[in-house]
Amino acid sequence: MKHLDAKSPCGACCTRFEGLSVALEGLPILEDVSLHLHCGEITAIIGPNGAGKTTLFRALLRQVPYRGQILFTDAAGSRVGRPRIGYVPQNLSAERLAPVTVLDFLGAALCGMPAFLPPGRKKRALVREALEKTGAQALEDRRLGTLSGGETQRVLLALALAPLPDLLLLDEPVSGMDAEGLASFYRLLDTLRHDFDLSILLISHDFDFVRRYADRAVLLHHRVLACGSPEAVLGGEAFAALFPDVAGRGRR
Ligand code: ADP
Ligand code: MG
Repeated sequence: MKHLDAKSPCGACCTRFEGLSVALEGLPILEDVSLHLHCGEITAIIGPNGAGKTTLFRALLRQVPYRGQILFTDAAGSRVGRPRIGYVPQNLSAERLAPVTVLDFLGAALCGMPAFLPPGRKKRALVREALEKTGAQALEDRRLGTLSGGETQRVLLALALAPLPDLLLLDEPVSGMDAEGLASFYRLLDTLRHDFDLSILLISHDFDFVRRYADRAVLLHHRVLACGSPEAVLGGEAFAALFPDVAGRGRR
């Protein structure tokens, strides 16, 4: 499964934010954010609600105007073109009773064909291949609106991975998942990262996950307050000031 060919996604996935600032409706949301995300790593973005975490993703996706620069480089530091970015949003607002199945949804997204057209063999094969990457092949004929939080995330992740991105963005992917769903989702991310050399940028409130799986953590509150190893960031003063309850628990 490992991609070792010249088109391997690694090599185009180091991302540098240099002096990034975003203001929305006249209010400063991000100020002078400078960060370097490394190829093949999982970087966790943590911070309180309203800190600007999702806005950072939206700047990467060019959905909001920003000042400063977002640069993409290869592992040697040379500038490369815009990488392919896969994005897993926080949730999918599917009507519980809507008749759209996973096959309809992914088929339309992957083949650009309307969901109401009957699934041909090619469409089915593409959808199956995408779902297999996230262990979600059994969900093919389920209706979207009836999936659990964890199942929905696997479908959204399958979509974000087809075609394989250089950089994968996940916005609080685990809200609403039970403990078992969480553990298997995290293991899946870890496997994908190793198998495909993906760079993963993940917004998370799950500090246990950050400690266990992330290579790097960034504490964001409009500015970068701390950046480094998960232990250093979660054990630091800035984290304790923003999350006194969690930090206190960790020391007990
Ligand atoms: P987080 O993801 O860290 O919870 P967000 O990036 O979603 O935070 O939002 C940061 C701040 O920006 C919030 O105060 C939010 O109300 C504000 N905000 C987000 N989107 C818009 C928008 N389109 N227009 C104005 N303000 C916005
Ligand atoms: Mg958010």
